[in-house]
Amino acid sequence: MAVRVRIAPSPTGNLHIGTARTAVFNWLFARRNEGTFVLRIEDTDKARSRDEYTENIKSGLSWLGLNWDEGPIFQTQRLDKYQQAVQTLIDKGLAYYCYCSAQELDEMRETQKAKGLAPGYDNRHRNLTEEEIETFEAEGRKPVIRFIIDEARTIVWEDKVRDKVVWKGGDLGGDMVIARAAENDNEPFGQALYNLAVVVDDIDMQITHVIRGEDHIANTAKQILLYEALEASVPEFAHTPLILNEEGRKLSKRDNVTSIDEFRKLGFLPEAMVNYMTLLGWTFPDSTKEIFTLDEAAKEFDLDRINKAGAKFDWNKLDWINTQYLHQMPVDRLIDLLIPYWQDAGFEVDKYDRTWLESLTAMTAPTLTRLTDVIKETKIFFTDSVEYGAEAIELLRQEKVAEVLKEVIAAIAENTQLEETEAKDIIKQVTKSQKVKKGLVMRSLRAGLTGELHGPDLTQSWLLLNHRGLDKPRLQQALEKI
Ligand code: GLU
Repeated sequence: MAVRVRIAPSPTGNLHIGTARTAVFNWLFARRNEGTFVLRIEDTDKARSRDEYTENIKSGLSWLGLNWDEGPIFQTQRLDKYQQAVQTLIDKGLAYYCYCSAQELDEMRETQKAKGLAPGYDNRHRNLTEEEIETFEAEGRKPVIRFIIDEARTIVWEDKVRDKVVWKGGDLGGDMVIARAAENDNEPFGQALYNLAVVVDDIDMQITHVIRGEDHIANTAKQILLYEALEASVPEFAHTPLILNEEGRKLSKRDNVTSIDEFRKLGFLPEAMVNYMTLLGWTFPDSTKEIFTLDEAAKEFDLDRINKAGAKFDWNKLDWINTQYLHQMPVDRLIDLLIPYWQDAGFEVDKYDRTWLESLTAMTAPTLTRLTDVIKETKIFFTDSVEYGAEAIELLRQEKVAEVLKEVIAAIAENTQLEETEAKDIIKQVTKSQKVKKGLVMRSLRAGLTGELHGPDLTQSWLLLNHRGLDKPRLQQALEKI
């Protein structure tokens, strides 16, 4: 049977890293099996769903390279299907109208608590008589629809990640609500709820493997009962481990950075993100291989290799992976990625020619961990003046430094086309005529040009500044500090 999988986010927030990681696994599984990856938007929670979140989810998946083959399919466009399924279950005697009021349910829970029992619905309206129904109707009560859960049933499935999973019907909290009460008088019942909608969709969309976070395990037990009741075949299930924060708890909104958008803004590359997310719960068959593309992973991907244990989110590892991609990226592509970050920082990059940007990027690339680092690493090449650090000022005030800088200024003259050999010759000549060590000339130049004692290749930095006519004024600025 052709593999069909889906990612089914609710548009109640931006694309979350947990959802994105589930999408990665589904995408890899689909590609490995030449299957179909469906995007379904579970937007039935009208109060919390927003179009902008749907857009964010779609653009996030696209940015990560997780292209979907079908969809997006919106649940709100399929409400009729869910209503029909609820009606089918009622007609079959597998679901019923429950008239319990909120107050009754609260009292029931209080009693259960007092007796030390697990909270749940006690199925009290499962077998109402005609008279009881008439009385409730006459009182104007609006019933919900509950699906009968047989307490004596044991639900078992072979999970692709967790192996055999066993749930007792009695541990599912009683007969479950599958549809809300009607909002209008002309409807028999209101909107269907999550578990019912998901099952109807997965049946209609012929989903063969449901790969999702392990927080859905209890839902799976309930959903299997719904598949059976709707006489549909049950798909395979794979429950992936949760992503944990540093304290070992489920990564949540409280952990600050959790949406894919935020990772993008922090300067992570999409290829590094998907690589890292794949490693959050899966290992390459050659476990020493940690850097791989989605396509490489797709060739080897196997649900059996997903870990059972939760995966701790590790910023250092993500940074390391990002570095691997950044440092091997062709300069041309890197510039295009850096331009928006420069622009955000207010550097008018369109004023500079491409060759200059290429040299700057080539020189800076090895220092970058995240794209955002480029701001601090290249700031001095865009701004007219620099701030001199205490160490640089101390150096500038050493004996002979002023003479060295004056001679360099004279040698530069009006040249803004300095070449590498010329720059090196100037350093040699100044070293000789000032009778100082070459190291002092280099340090003086670095301090004078950059305001710091450490940084990228000095000659390259000088040339970059020279080609913008910034070296001479800056050395003059340095002289004023002496
Ligand atoms: N809409 C659910 C969620 O965002 C996913 C449901 C599923 O994968 O079955 O958690």
